[in-house]
Amino acid sequence: MKNISILGSTGSIGTQALSVVAANPDLYRVTAITAQSNADLLISQALQFKPAMVVICDDSKYGTVKSALSGTTIQVLSGEDGLCEAASLPEADLVLTAVVGAVGLKPTIAAIKAGKDIGLANKETLVVAGDLITALAKEYRVRIIPVDSEHSAIFQCLVGEEESSIEKIYLTASGGPFRGQSPEFLSTVTKNEALKHPNWVMGAKITIDSASLMNKGLEVIEAKWLFGLEPDQIDVIVHPQSIIHSLVQFNDGSMKAQMGLPDMKLPIHYALAYPERISSDFKRFNFMDYPDLSFHQADKETFRNLELAYLAMRRGGNMPCIINAANEVVVNAFLQDQIGFLQMSDVIESCMEGIEFVAEASLNNYLETDRYTRIFAGELVTKQLNYNQNIKY
Ligand code: NDP
Ligand code: MG
Repeated sequence: MKNISILGSTGSIGTQALSVVAANPDLYRVTAITAQSNADLLISQALQFKPAMVVICDDSKYGTVKSALSGTTIQVLSGEDGLCEAASLPEADLVLTAVVGAVGLKPTIAAIKAGKDIGLANKETLVVAGDLITALAKEYRVRIIPVDSEHSAIFQCLVGEEESSIEKIYLTASGGPFRGQSPEFLSTVTKNEALKHPNWVMGAKITIDSASLMNKGLEVIEAKWLFGLEPDQIDVIVHPQSIIHSLVQFNDGSMKAQMGLPDMKLPIHYALAYPERISSDFKRFNFMDYPDLSFHQADKETFRNLELAYLAMRRGGNMPCIINAANEVVVNAFLQDQIGFLQMSDVIESCMEGIEFVAEASLNNYLETDRYTRIFAGELVTKQLNYNQNIKY
């Protein structure tokens, strides 16, 4: 029996993880679950899975959750401190980090320091502070098992291999809903069009990131830290069918790919069971449904976020933290119809130029960079919004 705490249990990854747990009651027990503000779903999950602890990060919803669970022995906490408590609960063996954004940084550190293995969905944490997180994981001898489908694919391809035998890796990208479109087209797209991903159903932030290719940019940085690679060893290839989840090319020229239907339950199931592989009844792949798997070069000129992420990775220091914070601000602004699709890259680039660069960053540097960048990006969004409104009227 493995005890699992799920940070972000009400999200796309969180709910799918709970369905994997529910399908394997003899293997897994849920020890803690957390949400930002979706109290109703959190309460119903708590009543179904009976964890030891439930955390609602939004303090204003604490009373609702507390009174709904008053007839149980479940401990109810709130806020960021509560999230860190859930991450370090003594009885948990594995913490699945499925919150969205840099908010995952502190609880992930708390979990590692408490000796928990990490099932990592929250890629932003590795983007922001990959050096600190990987060093801590080594120090506390905990495993970081990727949940992101591309990284799970690479991880699975590397079982039984030496990391030193990797020549390069290819992360596959679906290309999102706007693959092949021109900058002129992209300048007019709406959030509803951007939210229609062709292959995956995910939370809003990662869906916009997929449309802008920032998701792939964040994944490139995530891969650097997870697999200890140099920037030149990480390539991106567009593969619209999302069947090959990623590939490793070894130093003898041989390549390994991991493939399967695009269903996040598969990498979640693998991460929870690791190092074992446990049977599932997930739908099986049929070759005749996909007679043509195709591959294209990623268009980094039109989708500038991918190029910006490569630049940030090569620069190192707090630069990936800057692009992550700026990206969180602009995605939010795009989702609120405040700025256009292409203006997101403009703001990110201005933040890369405008925020002070720190080559050797401490945790405090990262937290400060994150804070300053959000303020700076917010001001740029406001300017852009005023400008956009002047154009309209
Ligand atoms: P969702 O938006 O669907 O869910 C996010 C979860 O985090 C929810 O439980 C939400 O609570 C909680 N949350 C949001 N903001 C905060 C906050 N400020 N403090 C604490 N908790 C918060 O996201 P996804 O499940 O899509 O993504 C989660 C992570 O997994 C992301 O890092 C994403 O990049 C990564 N990922 C996701 C994939 C997918 O298929 N969805 C694929 C690969 C990686 P509430 O519901 O109350 O808002
Ligand atoms: Mg992915």
